Amino acid sequence: MDIAMILIAGVLVGATIFIIGKPKKERKKEKDLSYYVKMPLQYTIDQVPVSLKEFQKKDKDFDPVYFSFVAFCLFRDVQEAWSNRNLNKLKPLIGERLFEVYEKVITDFTKKGQKNVIQDLMLLNAKICSVKIEDNKETIQVLMMVSCYDYLMATSSHRLLSGNNARKLSITYLVEFERTKEAKEEAIICSNCKQLVDKKHAIRCPFCNQELVPKTYDFIITNKIVLKETEF
Ligand SMILES: [Zn+2]
Repeated sequence: MDIAMILIAGVLVGATIFIIGKPKKERKKEKDLSYYVKMPLQYTIDQVPVSLKEFQKKDKDFDPVYFSFVAFCLFRDVQEAWSNRNLNKLKPLIGERLFEVYEKVITDFTKKGQKNVIQDLMLLNAKICSVKIEDNKETIQVLMMVSCYDYLMATSSHRLLSGNNARKLSITYLVEFERTKEAKEEAIICSNCKQLVDKKHAIRCPFCNQELVPKTYDFIITNKIVLKETEF
């Protein structure tokens, strides 16, 4: 789906945010995908580049492998709440500015009897681009390549209005996260084998290998930009 069509339909979540969220001039300055692909992972504290070890003196729990995983879990929860038009669920997961935009778009769709569905979301690749602390605010930029169905349908008749519910899209986003609270070392009960897993930063259950989805997050999504979108 090209940008012109998105403009007409005003459909895709990411693209909608991209168009609504950025004034024209600013949009032109946006770096392209190759810039972020080539970008080496940078940790900075008040604009001074530091090593991961030095960074962890400020945030002892920052673990890049675990963060890539949790970042996608949060992203998936946001997309699910969006598809279900669940504003209460969305609110604690995203920044205020993003929430205002989402709320407006969801309200508009609801008034028109339409629904934007993001389905079967899978992570293809994630790359952390930058991790920084500035004025005690921690932000992380992640390049996230996902696949999903993305379409607009009539809520009552389930008629397809735009997009495609038969072909998946591959979308690369630049997603920005902000830490909202100290990371907690919470034990998780595995949803599959019901064993208590208290291993810090565990992605999978050590007993049955089930993916351990966090119950709460220490981060929110503050921005999301579509860098590339192609049909599979
Ligand atoms: Zn288990």
